[in-house]
Amino acid sequence: MDLKNFRETAHHFVDWMADYMEHIEQRPVKPKTRPGEILAQLPEKAPEKPEAMDHIFQDFQNIIMPGMTHWQHPNFMAYFPANASPPSILAEMLTSTVAAQCMSWQTSPAATELEERVMDWLRDMIGLPQNFHGVIQDTASTSMFVAFLTARERVNNFRTNHTGLVDAGRHCCYASAEVHSSTDKGIRMAGLGSDNLRKIPVDENFALIPAELEKAILADLEAGHTPTCVVATLGSTSLSSIDPLAEIGEICKKYNVWLHVDAAWAGSALVLPEFRWMITGIENADSFVFNPHKWLLAQFDCSAFFVRDKGALIRTFEILPEYLKTREGDQVNNYRDWGPQLGRRFRALKLWFVIRSYGIEGLQNHIRRHIAMTQALAAQVAADPDFELLAPNPLALFCFRYHPEGYPEQKLDALNETLFEAINDTGKLYLTQTRIRDSYAIRLVSGAEATQPRHLEQAWVLIKQIARQLPLD
Ligand code: PLP
Repeated sequence: MDLKNFRETAHHFVDWMADYMEHIEQRPVKPKTRPGEILAQLPEKAPEKPEAMDHIFQDFQNIIMPGMTHWQHPNFMAYFPANASPPSILAEMLTSTVAAQCMSWQTSPAATELEERVMDWLRDMIGLPQNFHGVIQDTASTSMFVAFLTARERVNNFRTNHTGLVDAGRHCCYASAEVHSSTDKGIRMAGLGSDNLRKIPVDENFALIPAELEKAILADLEAGHTPTCVVATLGSTSLSSIDPLAEIGEICKKYNVWLHVDAAWAGSALVLPEFRWMITGIENADSFVFNPHKWLLAQFDCSAFFVRDKGALIRTFEILPEYLKTREGDQVNNYRDWGPQLGRRFRALKLWFVIRSYGIEGLQNHIRRHIAMTQALAAQVAADPDFELLAPNPLALFCFRYHPEGYPEQKLDALNETLFEAINDTGKLYLTQTRIRDSYAIRLVSGAEATQPRHLEQAWVLIKQIARQLPLD
């Protein structure tokens, strides 16, 4: 592609991008694609000859777009949001044009130093202590994995990196029963074994019970095992429960166990001073993660990982063959030594663009607005005699079920599953489901930048309308 063609096509694409954002509401939020439908439209073999960009773009519009789920749609209320704000998109355009591989300071000094600066900004914006150091990972799952590996090495005096785990005994990790599955995955990847993950019981608010945590640690010590890492969750995936960090932190300090705080989604709410109560006791945490790519308008992938002892992190990951040595040595940060990846994208640019173009106030307004809208809708759901909330809802997520008066408890799961599928089949609203105390629950999260109060109102009208048309046998 020559540069003249590139320039014209890129201008055309930018028009398409702006039109996409402007008219996204007219699209179904979730496609009705059947499995294999897209694959059947794609040739089995790669083309031998070059194809014109016009032709490729036509196929993008005709084959790919109809099979896309629109995460930026105002009626996307499933999973957690994955916001892509216009400033973030613009930064990503520049990032992909400069296309630097930012593994070391020397391979792009500006990328490294900007990452250092914006991570300090973020740390201060969410109220973490000054002695936390930040690095951008791709996801919270990777951040969790990094935390487990660093915890494993610290507790073994950095020996197991060399010896492996053969003679190291059992390493036990602890998390609430509501913890995200990336904990289970991280434990497997770190070689600690999922049998050694203790799922600690939760209280009536679905928060980890500290006394139960201490009991589990003591039992493992008694058995000669090595308590290695505790994961405290702020904003659990199913229902946004918040673990009591201060008490958990005291226990971790007492038994010298690494404390990782997983605030993948809810961490963004810490830009609001009124939500800083969630991190009371954070000074005892060893690592903390939240994903600006979820709720803070910097698009995927952008996971903000903070660690208190960056020396332990670097000692866990640093490997320095001759071909990676640079003369700046320890004077600079080489983020390749802060996690599993050697090659790294320039992710700090989008954070810089987002933070500067919204300002802290703009980001606070965005988060506050979603919490207020969701709380207002949750109150309406709670007030309807045919519906019930199934858990506390401190942030911008609530779980509910349809429970018509007198309808038998044992049939509620099936009724709500039918309701849930019928809602999503409309293509007008996208929700996800979970289980709460063994009941089927429908889960609604508001976080897309395009979502306005009217979208939540319309969602509620749609939910009620579909529910009331369901046959009650
Ligand atoms: N932790 C929590 C609480 C989550 O909700 C999620 C995903 O939604 C994750 C971790 C994993 O996030 P990621 O997709 O960035 O790995």
